[in-house]
Amino acid sequence: MPPPSRIERLCIKKGMKMTEQRRVIAHVLSVSTDHPDVEQVYRRAVQMDSHISIATVYRTVRLFEEANILERHDFGNGRARYEEITDEHHDHLIDIQSGEVIEFQNQEIEVLQEKIAAKYGFKLVGHRLELYGVPTEPKKKHARRRSGGKGNRGSA
Ligand SMILES: [Zn+2]
Repeated sequence: MPPPSRIERLCIKKGMKMTEQRRVIAHVLSVSTDHPDVEQVYRRAVQMDSHISIATVYRTVRLFEEANILERHDFGNGRARYEEITDEHHDHLIDIQSGEVIEFQNQEIEVLQEKIAAKYGFKLVGHRLELYGVPTEPKKKHARRRSGGKGNRGSA
């Protein structure tokens, strides 16, 4: 096993009992930057430990979600997808053909949302924004894909 992942350290801090299989799943989720669904997490986890079952992955992912370690997204195809919760806010652009997710931040949108809330007499405390699209150029590698460094999401 590699050294304790970010998610594993968080789990320990929250007093969770870390079995070998939970450690593997925590590691897989920590290194994933593509918002994987449970099946993708499972496929990556069994490469590290062939005894892990999909049921265990489902249970563990739910456990991490309930502990506010993971955020669940519904990107429109009915499959929950997960990412580690970080302090830094970002929104998502989803390629509906490939399922690829691009993270972005846009100050104009942030300001506009606050204006809309204020107009209706609200102070904005949160929002979720998902854009769905198809690539305008075929098979071009997205330059804005995250570089993988945690803590600077969306700024790659
Ligand atoms: Zn994200």
